Amino acid sequence: MMNIMCKSRPRIVKGKAICNRKVIGKVIKNSKSGKKEECIQVLSHDYLELFEEGYIGYIFENEEINTKIEKYLIQNFIPSILGVKTGFFLYDDVIELNSRVDSIALLYKSDCYENTIVVTNQCNSNCIMCPDSIAIRSVRENVSIKKIKTLLSLISKDAKFICITGGEPTLLELGLFEILDECKTSLFNTQFIMLTNGRMFYYKSYVKEFIKHRPDNMIIAIPIHGHVSKLHDSITQSKGSFKQTITGVKMLHDLGENIEIRVVLSKMNYLYLADIAKLIIDKFPNAFRVNFMAMEMLGNAVVNESKVWIDLDKLQIEVAKASRLLIENGINTYLYNFPMCYVDERLWSITMNSISENKIRYREECKECKVINKCGGFFGSTMRFKSLKAKPI
Ligand code: SF4
Repeated sequence: MMNIMCKSRPRIVKGKAICNRKVIGKVIKNSKSGKKEECIQVLSHDYLELFEEGYIGYIFENEEINTKIEKYLIQNFIPSILGVKTGFFLYDDVIELNSRVDSIALLYKSDCYENTIVVTNQCNSNCIMCPDSIAIRSVRENVSIKKIKTLLSLISKDAKFICITGGEPTLLELGLFEILDECKTSLFNTQFIMLTNGRMFYYKSYVKEFIKHRPDNMIIAIPIHGHVSKLHDSITQSKGSFKQTITGVKMLHDLGENIEIRVVLSKMNYLYLADIAKLIIDKFPNAFRVNFMAMEMLGNAVVNESKVWIDLDKLQIEVAKASRLLIENGINTYLYNFPMCYVDERLWSITMNSISENKIRYREECKECKVINKCGGFFGSTMRFKSLKAKPI
């Protein structure tokens, strides 16, 4: 099932549903503006008098509404929920209102820079440090392409950035092209990034077709876990994946596509970062950027902790060496998911605040740190490692 991620969820206080139906719509809050056929009217306590007929759904903060409104909603089968805290909702959010089970799913949060569309849970690799578990990736949940397209068509034309991810999005085959077509036509000003393992790009015919459908402003982000197949394939746990990914990235790169290469750092590959950098310099000198990424400890990464976890302290020298190599060769390079106290000060300018807000944690000692306002902190999932101490600057 498609899921769109953002930080928090609306809270239903009592939750009394009228009419058992689902609709996806744009939020119109405490007002009467907007195209009624695509909007859900959200009314706080003091704004009930702004109720107007014609919207596709309604959310009321009131736990009771007058019988005239109730009758209108019931007679017209319009999904509505009463008793919802409305402070959460913003104009232009996109939500799915399911009055059958009294739920409101937030599909797009208008004030969030990190709106992510998860188009499938399935993947054709099984990376040893994947933050999803194998159980999540192997049970197929139906993706509704129609629902994703409806969402995309409702997102504000001013949306700055959208990430398309999975699982592995290319497994949707033609369905992905339908989604990309919708991105292209509905959101021509938006920067897109698609996270993929790149294996499908091994096939020339697929690459050609993909390029025809992808929106103009799209970065294709692909992980390279090793400089040789033995290392890469042992991390993806998928024989032949190195050959497929490297061939795919090469083809996209040589066709001038915006390629971001991601190197997820683990105990298995940290001693080979300079070799990976050399491979990138050799084969993909025009890569859009390279990101070295510290691990999130969830899913497979937890199951395989003894094989993959490495203290951030131990990564420093190798990360610095590989970053310098890339930068000296004109390739933009960034460090993701690193607290600043684990990075050489000379590399702070390439250290990104990349952990999403809902996952960032700081240690008690961070309160004394002079750079806390600039620092991206730790993943919540790594806080249990006692050796991962904060080192206030
Ligand atoms: S001590 Fe805390 S705030 Fe300071 S750099 Fe380290 S993690 Fe960041």
